[in-house]
Amino acid sequence: MAERHLTQQTLFSEEELPVQEAVKVAAPIIRRAFKYRLWTNENQERELGITLETHRRLYNQCLENRKTAYERDGKVLSYVAQAAWFTQECKTNPFYARLNVHSAQQTIRRLDRSYANFFRRIREGTEKSGFPRFKSQDRFNSLTFNYPERANGCRLIGDRFRVQHIGTIRVKLHRPVQGKIKTATLKREAGKWYVIFSCELPSPEVKPSTLPVVGIDMGLTHFLTTSEGQHEPNPRYLKNELPALRRAGRSVSRKMKNGKNRKKAVVKLQKIHVRVRNLRREHHFQLACRLVRAHGLIATEGLDIQEMLGNRRFSRAIQDAGWGQFLSILKNKAESAGSEVVEVDPRGTSQRCSECQALVVKTLRDRWHSCHHCGLELDRDVNAARNILARGKASLDGACGKANVDQ
Ligand SMILES: [Zn+2]
Repeated sequence: MAERHLTQQTLFSEEELPVQEAVKVAAPIIRRAFKYRLWTNENQERELGITLETHRRLYNQCLENRKTAYERDGKVLSYVAQAAWFTQECKTNPFYARLNVHSAQQTIRRLDRSYANFFRRIREGTEKSGFPRFKSQDRFNSLTFNYPERANGCRLIGDRFRVQHIGTIRVKLHRPVQGKIKTATLKREAGKWYVIFSCELPSPEVKPSTLPVVGIDMGLTHFLTTSEGQHEPNPRYLKNELPALRRAGRSVSRKMKNGKNRKKAVVKLQKIHVRVRNLRREHHFQLACRLVRAHGLIATEGLDIQEMLGNRRFSRAIQDAGWGQFLSILKNKAESAGSEVVEVDPRGTSQRCSECQALVVKTLRDRWHSCHHCGLELDRDVNAARNILARGKASLDGACGKANVDQ
């Protein structure tokens, strides 16, 4: 990114850069997801529920088979072996026979991926290496179809989505699908059905931004603080909903196991979680948009969120803030606006003085930075944000020799 930045500016001045050239360069392809609400009728909802349940049982049975094969003969069943087993099984199991073969294969692949991830975690030893688990009904909410050129199990026709064995479902097409659909995922969230298309699009070629630079420090007191001294409050959506969540949780546990009322209570509980998730996401998008519109380079901390979640006292607050999601949204937005996000090593950014680099030791409670060397008086987070910005600029300088981002 930084390199292209340089060459384009040296070859053409900005006005000269021919538009067609820029389009031709756009070879790399990106994946984007488009999610739509499905307006299902009662029949379709029931059929979708049955199909999802069959997929869940397939997933669990494949996991069971892998476990027994390993325990009996110490063999690891591969995806290919399990797909072959499924083909045989279809001849005798009417439920499996009713599944679309390719979507069933996607479910088997999903188990294969969770195994691969499990082994990767063991290899790397950085995270806890939880074994793939059997999925309860609450934990299995989606199934995926391949979406090749010719019809295979599902098809989007206008604002209708046709699914094999289920029928034609109305789609709330609130915006057009872009690019070439590669997969379609049906998902149930708190009792509502959605379809998510994963599409391939040519990555848009954008001119590198010439807007000013900024450093941001993320925290819990403020969601983020910029090096320009602006604070963004931390909305703590989850915390606000905790009383409601506890109430809903109690209501679930009072209902009879496997009863109809329990299912209803679970949906109510899920709805609260969905609301929290949506509000948080919306906040992240708006904030990322604002930052990207005003800045060409954004320096942030490279956070090790897994490690931070190990901190019991703050783990819920950290999860509630959702820094990881915010950072990935910010990177995406920056990419399509020609801005750049650099992650820097966060160690010591809050302790060093951003003016003279002296060490000013603070505890988490100390909200104010006052340097006894150069006399700098500053908000603690603003000081950290300035340090982050300085490191961000330095790392860019190091990466491409002479940087042209200084403003
Ligand atoms: Zn100082």
